[in-house]
Amino acid sequence: MNFETVIGLEVHVELFTKSKVFCGCSTEFGGEPNTHCCPVCLGMPGVLPVTNKKAVEYAIKAGLALNCEIASYSKFDRKNYFYPDLPKAYQISQYDLPIAKNGYIEIEAGGKTRRIGITRVHLEEDAGKLIHEEGKSNSLVDLNRTGVPLIEIVSEPDIRSPEEAWLYLNKLKSILQYIEVSDCKMEEGSLRCDVNISIRPEGSDIFGTKVEIKNLGSFKAVRRSLEYEERRQREVIEDGGELVQETRRWDETKGITISMRSKEQAHDYRYFPDPDLMPMVLDRDWVCEIKANLPELPDARKERYVKEFGLPAYDAGVLTSSKALSNFYEECISHYHDPKAVSNWVMVEMMGLMNEKGLEVEQIKLKPQQLAEMLRIMDKGVISGKIAKEVFRDMFETGKDPEVIVKEKGLVQISDENELEKIAQKVIDQNPKSVQDYKNGKEKALGFLVGQMMKETRGKANPQMVNEILKKMLG
Ligand SMILES: [Zn+2]
Repeated sequence: MNFETVIGLEVHVELFTKSKVFCGCSTEFGGEPNTHCCPVCLGMPGVLPVTNKKAVEYAIKAGLALNCEIASYSKFDRKNYFYPDLPKAYQISQYDLPIAKNGYIEIEAGGKTRRIGITRVHLEEDAGKLIHEEGKSNSLVDLNRTGVPLIEIVSEPDIRSPEEAWLYLNKLKSILQYIEVSDCKMEEGSLRCDVNISIRPEGSDIFGTKVEIKNLGSFKAVRRSLEYEERRQREVIEDGGELVQETRRWDETKGITISMRSKEQAHDYRYFPDPDLMPMVLDRDWVCEIKANLPELPDARKERYVKEFGLPAYDAGVLTSSKALSNFYEECISHYHDPKAVSNWVMVEMMGLMNEKGLEVEQIKLKPQQLAEMLRIMDKGVISGKIAKEVFRDMFETGKDPEVIVKEKGLVQISDENELEKIAQKVIDQNPKSVQDYKNGKEKALGFLVGQMMKETRGKANPQMVNEILKKMLG
């Protein structure tokens, strides 16, 4: 039997407002435990929360960027559950009237554009963090994070493969970074993701039994856990077994999911409207103003790169996948206007080194002007393309200007005819067989001699001149 996979994602994103969503405490990541707290976010009796307007604005901004309808009337509800990281024993969230709903984002999967629906975007407060120290019987609690504004973005069950889930997450992250509402750093917990997955016979329109997966620390973990779970569910059905609705935990080291709790143990949150907070009437003029001020989003930017710079869609997609990368690229071409040449250097050399060193664009020492300057030096013939790669690596590692590197390392291209002729003579004398081969009509032999000259000059000889000089001298 052929199966179809059905996946839905719930993503929590911390908004980077300066203060928390219902009090004035700092939202800054880290800090001594329990130093960014006050009676409100500690959930003391008798305190009153006040909604942070910026957090509402960011939630609207996210809703608009995700093509959602923005509610004109919205409210906060209490979601009741007891866990030591939540001092109030309820979380202020949104139940039936979220700020935004019915949106979508588009992903490119297998050469096709796929639209993934967004069910809703709602605003809520984050909980604190429990610290379980190894070998100790007690746990510690840090409440710096309680009350940091979160948006929860719930997708429709439109995702059909682990690969699509991965593409969706990347696109979502990219959009949220473009509109500057969150840094989306999964390693700092500012983006978290829960997934649900089921399978059903191909062609069926009834959903199969859904399994939720938690404890996903990276986009890679999301993809791997879904691949595992897809396989596991198929095997259960093929063996004549039955799937149970449950929550499973991803074990990164073992690469498997483990059952945590079944449906019977699911929470009953007993939602009810928070009586301490006024409902929100979201003024249409305000929403329009936020919409009008949305920056260019990744899809629009990609399209512009194709039209304006004549880049292949692939290049445009890679370069616009992150705002920081795309800003780096644009600044570089503002100094050196050859979009394709710059694209090649950024995509191959720069991204290669970033990958190798595990760095993000924001962390690298290399400046866009330096890449532009290096390309100009190359055009002038001061350095060869081969040497440029060496200069580039050095710039990337040290952040030094290309001229400085070229001077320090003596990398200036040798374009002096006399000097090159001397070296050519030496190479000719040392390789009589290749010379003979070339004279007998073996074109390949010339390539070998060119190579020898490059070796002799440690790559500094002007390759074009080397070719001409050798041909001339060999008659
Ligand atoms: Zn507080």
